[in-house]
Amino acid sequence: MPVSIPPSKDIPPARRQSTDVSLDEIENIRFVAPKRKPTGLRWVAGLLLVAGIGSVGYWQRAWLGAQTGRVVGGVRSAIAQVNPARSAGEATAESEPSSSEPSILNSADDSDQTGAGDVAPADQLLNHRRYDVADEATLVPLTPDSEIRLKPAAKAAVTRMLEKARAEGVQLDLVSGFRTLDDQNYLYFDLKAERGESAQTRAEVSAPPGYSEHHTGYAVDFIDKSRPSTHLEESFEDTEAFKWLEANAAFFNFEMSFQRDNEAQVGYEPWHWRYVGNQESLELFYK
Ligand SMILES: [Zn+2]
Repeated sequence: MPVSIPPSKDIPPARRQSTDVSLDEIENIRFVAPKRKPTGLRWVAGLLLVAGIGSVGYWQRAWLGAQTGRVVGGVRSAIAQVNPARSAGEATAESEPSSSEPSILNSADDSDQTGAGDVAPADQLLNHRRYDVADEATLVPLTPDSEIRLKPAAKAAVTRMLEKARAEGVQLDLVSGFRTLDDQNYLYFDLKAERGESAQTRAEVSAPPGYSEHHTGYAVDFIDKSRPSTHLEESFEDTEAFKWLEANAAFFNFEMSFQRDNEAQVGYEPWHWRYVGNQESLELFYK
């Protein structure tokens, strides 16, 4: 069951944006004349000018805010059509600012959006890169009865890996392959709310929807079946399965995506590996 924590804890102060006109903006339009000390009269006139500009800025921001709200509404309703469960969940939650909204808005210059897929989001969000969701017709199940789906090249490589590891007495297996936007919505937003985490904290262990390598069909999460307590935990690095991966994965064109202290500042995920053994996957991850 969810732990009951006040929703205000989900909103870190760093997320708030200043609405003041900055000194740089004022200087750029030459309202502060630093070369001469103003006389009393000039000083009063200067104050009036600054106040005037301040109020113009205020009304501009108010207008922009109204436009922003309109576009957000459009985007939300578009998402609701694609994912009713998600919007139902949102309706019951406090209206916390979603970290994904600004990036969507940056490119949402057309209010005639007909679907969430029409909106081009930012290339990066909370240190995660954006990935298109693979066409599900191009995916294959890992085994006939498996819910885990991958691109055929990744499936072929991972199948040979599991066979070799098991032949060597290592209980390597995987728990996750391709994920839809719905899957990632749950993993990012629902669990974030359930655990009362900030957007940043959640992003250290889970990518926001649209920004997960799992969308490509080339990323997997490995486990050691003999060590259930290490599943999707950093302690996976202490397992035989992880040691086997470190020594063998490269021979199957797999690499660990998020090393410890990685440059992207994404949390260390020793269980999460990606296939880079064909042109498509290489371009996806290294473009
Ligand atoms: Zn993963």
